[in-house]
Amino acid sequence: MTSVSRSLAEAAERIIPGGVNSATRSIGAPWAWRSAKGATMTDMDGGVYTDYHAAFGAILLGHSDERVNDAVTRAIADIDLVGVGTTELEVELARLVVDAIPSAEMVISTMSGSEATFQAVRLARGATGRPFILKFQGNFHGSYDALARNVISSPDLAWGRDPNSSGILDDAIDHTLIAEFNDLASVQEHFARHPEQIAAVILEPVPHNVGALLPEQEFLEGLREITRAHGSLLIFDEVISGFRHALGGYQELCGVTPDLTTFGKAMGNGFPVAGLAGSTEAMSHFTPAGGSVMLAGTFNGNAASMAAAIATIEVLKDPEVDFYGHVGRLGDRMRVGLQQIADDAGIAAHVTGLGSVFIPYFLDGEVRGYRDLLRNDDHAYATFHRRMIDKGSFMYPMALKRNHISLAHTEADVDRTLAQAEDVLGAMAREGIFAAQAANA
Ligand code: PLP
Repeated sequence: MTSVSRSLAEAAERIIPGGVNSATRSIGAPWAWRSAKGATMTDMDGGVYTDYHAAFGAILLGHSDERVNDAVTRAIADIDLVGVGTTELEVELARLVVDAIPSAEMVISTMSGSEATFQAVRLARGATGRPFILKFQGNFHGSYDALARNVISSPDLAWGRDPNSSGILDDAIDHTLIAEFNDLASVQEHFARHPEQIAAVILEPVPHNVGALLPEQEFLEGLREITRAHGSLLIFDEVISGFRHALGGYQELCGVTPDLTTFGKAMGNGFPVAGLAGSTEAMSHFTPAGGSVMLAGTFNGNAASMAAAIATIEVLKDPEVDFYGHVGRLGDRMRVGLQQIADDAGIAAHVTGLGSVFIPYFLDGEVRGYRDLLRNDDHAYATFHRRMIDKGSFMYPMALKRNHISLAHTEADVDRTLAQAEDVLGAMAREGIFAAQAANA
């Protein structure tokens, strides 16, 4: 890292804790950015990178997309934030979301995914009068107390007590149960132990916070049956998968309809906007509709966020743009290419993902749940990503984190990245970085 970036990062460290405004932005080297446009971002010293991190997936069309920026500029020339009643923009976005998401009859807008999942949990508890929430090991749902636990857990803590933060009351931790993804028996066990006490089951239908666990259809259908039978709500947290894998999220692809859906991230192409959708019956528990579950947020529905989301969704819907076709083709090209390179180099790798998302796990065998991810060679994974950054392809260098392709990426970007990966993986194999893996094989 050269001088200008370093000095800005150091200035940040003196005045912002750790120099970053979100913990996972701290990745062991001082990064400071001047600009981001399309598929590239440029650091303070002029270093240019092809961006596969995409702000943890918030960028779907490419950075600083003119269609989105222009829509925001037009909207805020007329109105910013009034804070009473509603606006045309809020109603327009709500209509687009209800049309897009199969389970959505009504929708609220929030500013972040964490607020959306927080509201979902509150609503589930308020509507059922039950205390427990069930989540899955390896799924992440944001920073609030009820859900901030058991994401990337070490083997000794996985499925056990692994809060992501201090300061969470024991009561909050104790009222969130942990099951294994793609394992209905682990869910049934909790329901048997806590009859009529579980308010909701929440899951990422495709757990992207550990890369890409692909859900088995019977698992999702089973969750639907179990929750219905026990009077619990089923919450799909589509903060990553929503709008990314299909306009209607993963529920459009799998045909399983949850009671509540949270979404965010990519829907605003970098602008802060998220939300919660559900049936009219479920959403009528919010206070403005006469229910008892509090709904509040100063910035909810602000014009800039609404305009960004409307413009993003309009691009995603445009058949001439063919967003899903484009990112799916490039995603396949990347996944097939990386698997081939690893196979040719004799490296045990399982390259997976979906549509725009790709991830090379360095392990042998199949991946169904978190249990299998404990076999990932985390050191090799982080080394691969760090060296890819050195080559000019920015991939988040922390184990199990996924990579994203946006509408702005091209076939030439993917081919250049694959050529870089061939160099990097070849060198890592020669240096014996996968030696431990080979010894275990
Ligand atoms: N849910 C999922 C699946 C997420 O991946 C995230 C963030 O990464 C959140 C919720 C929280 O969203 P936010 O960071 O906007 O609060």
